[in-house]
Amino acid sequence: MSDILSINPSTQTDNYPFPVTIRLDVAPAILKNSRQVVPVMRNGRLLRIPIKSKKAEAFMKAAAAAFEKQWGDRPPIDELVNIAFLFYGSWPDERSMPDLSNLYQAPEDALQAAGIIKDDTLIDSHAGSRRIPVCPYCPDRPILKSGPRKGQHKDSCGKKSACPYVGIDMIITKADRTDIPARAVSRCVRPSL
Ligand SMILES: [Zn+2]
Repeated sequence: MSDILSINPSTQTDNYPFPVTIRLDVAPAILKNSRQVVPVMRNGRLLRIPIKSKKAEAFMKAAAAAFEKQWGDRPPIDELVNIAFLFYGSWPDERSMPDLSNLYQAPEDALQAAGIIKDDTLIDSHAGSRRIPVCPYCPDRPILKSGPRKGQHKDSCGKKSACPYVGIDMIITKADRTDIPARAVSRCVRPSL
């Protein structure tokens, strides 16, 4: 028990002006294709070359430009962090939102590729992350000219991922690990049943 309690959870120093807020005006996207690989034989060795989908390439390119503009030449964050991801998507309602867990991969890869975070394994938690449908609030929705809802807005602007209000906000803070020893102890040093 004392061994676990003696681990100091806060050996990190504050090197960054936390919270760091990064804004990305690119639609949240699921980029599963970017993880597909093709086996290729080269010089007698089997290589696995990842396929980059057009969607993945477009996302990474747009993200790289936006991140470079916001991060400049600051060194990458090299400590455990919490990132609250706010995914603003062109989803018509709360029943048509994609699986939250699938939305993290693309921006996390991009944060690492842009050198904002040294390695995405440093992302310790996603506390505060949400999906936010913008279609019901989008001011670009055209007005219906006929039918029972004449005069009201359509359900969406129809621009989908090109809607100007979609995007991803990322609020990066130092990971809070203060409760980890207690959690570990309660799990590892449970009284025997
Ligand atoms: Zn819209």
